[in-house]
Amino acid sequence: MIERLEAPADARAWCAQQRAAGKTIGFVPTMGALHAGHLSLVQQALQENDVVCVSVFVNPLQFDESADLIAYPRDWDGDVALLQACGCQMVFTGTLAQFFPDELDGQGKFPASALKDPGPGALGLEGSTRDGHFEGVATIVERLFEVVQPTRAYFGQKDFQQTLVARYLVRAGDTPRVVICPISREESGLARSSRNERLSAEERAGAVFLSQALARCAQAWQAGERRAAQLEAILQSSILNSGRAFDYAAVRNPAAWSVEMPEGELAEAVAVVAARVGPVRLLDNHLLADPFPQPPVGACSQAKQS
Ligand code: AMP
Repeated sequence: MIERLEAPADARAWCAQQRAAGKTIGFVPTMGALHAGHLSLVQQALQENDVVCVSVFVNPLQFDESADLIAYPRDWDGDVALLQACGCQMVFTGTLAQFFPDELDGQGKFPASALKDPGPGALGLEGSTRDGHFEGVATIVERLFEVVQPTRAYFGQKDFQQTLVARYLVRAGDTPRVVICPISREESGLARSSRNERLSAEERAGAVFLSQALARCAQAWQAGERRAAQLEAILQSSILNSGRAFDYAAVRNPAAWSVEMPEGELAEAVAVVAARVGPVRLLDNHLLADPFPQPPVGACSQAKQS
């Protein structure tokens, strides 16, 4: 049976027990409404650690639009059942007040002065579009790391700048080891996301323009194109030619993040896109010198294919 804990203090105690027993802990932070993408992280963590725990917390600090926070899908019981079926040992949740008992003010508000610095990977693109988003991410991830003190923490490449923030948070030490897992996609190529649940069938089918534009960019890379400006132009024109718009469609150096487009030829690159489709904003990206291992083959047959 999976341990299902509804207070961070209980999660802290459970993790301390595991460490005392000499076990390695794999940790997967999530906002729930779990799908096969999340579960691919859990499966990789299960292969590499003695025990795995997952947090499910829709973190208000990282939402810049209250409508998005309210509409964000939640399914705690369903999430617990999926994790149990995967063989995950513990899942926990909590409230903002439980996670930050010393930080919240008298009105239950989180003071800006207590937000953490997300580092340079938070600058530009997603960071420019969503005010305070990465400060909110850094603040909760740091707190979750304190609670769990994992051996390894798993993040999806799907949220590329978030992986830079996670790496920045552990810059001073080597624990936890931050492991970046490949993007899990639907058959159509659409990157799996909890937000996909809010798309109509038509919107979902149409949303493939994102992964198609990334594939065009990857073809150009394979054909030898290494200039960011050319790659970015291919990415943007592919989206515009399909009659769609984007919040941003850009090429950056994943090893040396910059706000502006890098000059000259790149040894590796990441093409990143964000666009509104119907009621939601979708993110996707493609590494153009793919350093990541193949996703593990796991038997999580109950995973929702969303
Ligand atoms: P979220 O619940 O959206 O905060 O995601 C929790 C973790 O799962 C993050 O590290 C995400 O990057 C990762 N994740 C979400 N969707 C995918 C996906 N399609 N493929 C791989 N990782 C994902």
